[in-house]
Order: sequence, then C-alpha cells, then structure tokens
Amino acid sequence: MIEIIGLSKKELEAEIALMGEKSFRAKQVWQWLYFRGVKSFDEMTNLSKELRQKLANRFQITRPQIVAEQISRDKTHKWLLEFADGERVEMVYIPEDDRGAVCISTQVGCAMGCRFCHTGSQKLTRNLTAGEIVSQFMVARDAYGEWPSPTHETRYLSNIVVMGMGEPLQNLENVCQALNILTDNEGIAISRRRITMSTSGIAPQILPALQATGVRLAVSLHAPNNELRSQIMPINKRYPIEQVLEACKAYQAGDGSRYITFEYLLLDGVNDTPDCARQLILLMKKYALRASFNLIPFNPWPGCAFKPSKPESIATFARILENAGYAAPVRVPRGQDILAACGQLKSLKTNA
Ligand code: SAH
Ligand code: SF4
Repeated sequence: MIEIIGLSKKELEAEIALMGEKSFRAKQVWQWLYFRGVKSFDEMTNLSKELRQKLANRFQITRPQIVAEQISRDKTHKWLLEFADGERVEMVYIPEDDRGAVCISTQVGCAMGCRFCHTGSQKLTRNLTAGEIVSQFMVARDAYGEWPSPTHETRYLSNIVVMGMGEPLQNLENVCQALNILTDNEGIAISRRRITMSTSGIAPQILPALQATGVRLAVSLHAPNNELRSQIMPINKRYPIEQVLEACKAYQAGDGSRYITFEYLLLDGVNDTPDCARQLILLMKKYALRASFNLIPFNPWPGCAFKPSKPESIATFARILENAGYAAPVRVPRGQDILAACGQLKSLKTNA
C-alpha cells in the first residue's frame, strides 16, 4: 500500500496515469483529499465505483493517531500524535480572537541539542515524511471542522508555524514538499505569507529553503555573540552568528517586504542583561537587517539548568530594543495549565 497523503501533485498525477486514468482524475482525488478532507476513497463520489476500488487497493489515506489531547482554559489545544511506527510528536493550536496558528513538528526529537530545549535533550530519532507533516495539520482541521477549506476570512486555523519538535532545515526536502501541499490553492490553501518557519540557524540552508517555499522566516538567535550562543546552542560552533546573519541579509536583498523575526529566549542571568540587548542592536545595525524580535519567556522543564528571566529583566530588555526602533513583543505564555509548550506533554506521557 502506498500512502497517498504527502505525494506531490506531480507524483499523484503519475500514479493516476500509471493506473490508466485520465489526468483530471488526479485533480479530483487531490481535491477530495486536501480541499474536502475525506478519509476514505468511498467518499469520492464523483469517481466511478470501480476507480474508487482500484484506488483503495493501491493507496491508503492515513492520519496520525491522537494519543492524548488537552484544551487549556485559554483555549490552547494540544495533541500528542502517534505515527504508524509508534513514534510520537506534539502539535499545538494557539487561537487568537478570529484566527489562530497551528504549530507543527518536522522531526521526532532533534539533533541540535540546544541546552534549553526539551526536544533537544531527546536526540534525533527520525525525520518526519512529507505526509506526516501535512497530516498533522489535517488532524487540526478535522477537530475544528474546517473542511472543505474555508475562505481566508472565515478560517480559525489561519496560520501555520513550523516551530514544533525538530529542526526544519535538517529535513528540508520533506518540509518543502509538505509546504507545497499545505499551500496548494486547490487543496488546503494556506497562504505562504501565513506560514512561518523557525530555524536554529543552519546557515547554508536558509536561502535555498526560503527560495523553495516562499514562507516567512524566524531565526532562533537567543544570544548576541558567539561565545554565549555556542554555550547554549551547540550548532553555533558549526554555523556562527556571522554566517547566519549573512544568510538573512541575502534573503532580504532587493525585497523590502521581507522582515525576519528573531526569536530570543530569555534565560535568567545568562542572556538577559541590558548589555546583551545593546549587543543585539549593534548586530542588527552591522548587517542592516529589517528585523523584529519575539522575546520568549523560558519554559522550565525538569532537569534543565536554566531559570526563566525575572519580569523586570524582560521588561528592560524589551524597552532597550524598542527604544532602538525594533518591535520586541514578549510572547504571552499560552496553555500553561496543560503544559502546552515545548515537549512537555510528550515527556510526561513517556515518563509515566
Ligand atoms: N528547531 C527550530 C524550530 C523548533 S523550536 C528552532 O529552534 O527554531 C521553536 C522555538 O521554541 C525556538 O525558538 C526554541 O528556542 C523555543 N524553545 C525551545 N525550548 C524552549 C523552552 N524551554 N521554553 C521556551 N521556548 C523554547
Ligand atoms: Fe532543536 Fe529547535 Fe529544540 Fe534547538 S530549539 S534542540 S533546534 S527543536
């Protein structure tokens, strides 16, 4: 059996041609899968019974299984999802007033080993396939009844952030294929401008990734100099800040609309001093980057050496960046009553 979710449009067309069917059948199947969100070939009522049977003999339509699910007081919704081989990832839906972002994962575990990140402490188990990345979002749509694909104005699941478990630029081929499916206009149709991909800074992949996908970029910076960054993000030894920011600059060249969000996790006494904020500003100026910041309060987990910054330190840090002309909102922690951030559901379950 071939998994049909995750085939590119071209691959699906080739499969349908191989079955001796006309190419418009591929388009119909695509629309059933990704515009209507059906879970069986039986529901594809504009296809002949015979073709539906042929499809069912050759392909399967799979969603990851929901192992656990919680909705917090603030409506943040978290799922623990399990794939066919038993591997698990998390997904979170973070609703705003009339829209919301679904945070999806790209790997089981992560090889980057950032010291503050629970996923990073779990090592890399494997990459997710394109189908496994796309089908996460499809589970969220199932839950909110957003089939067929609603118009942009009426959808709650309006945005996607590739900020769950894993480093997307280390699984670039599958992530690109997944994003092409998620943004396809005849299917799920999430606009590329409403997707943000976050990377820990795999410098040589930044430009190719953005050229291939057209989505927005967020870079997990977390420190204003190499000494400090290497201490908390080992990947910085391989791709130091200069290389990451050069890639960001190349991405912005010639296109004034390309803003980059720099994520900055605030760790008490480590990277949250006023001096760090001033070094950050100098860095932005040096590379002439059009940037905004996303200041992230650290979410502690058992066994982690870091502590969250004090509210006063966070406020001072934000003020210094803002006075220099950079937007620097502090991310409001969501879903705290259900531990919705960063590997915690998965870890609780696996430790249990
Ligand atoms: N690997 C990519 C995307 C997934 S991590 C990256 O690192 O950018 C998404 C974000 O979650 C990153 O900015 C990361 O720094 C942040 N994060 C990791 N652990 C965290 C924690 N314990 N508390 C708060 N944010 C955390
Ligand atoms: Fe991987 Fe991102 Fe966690 Fe670093 S912060 S270990 S890159 S998931």
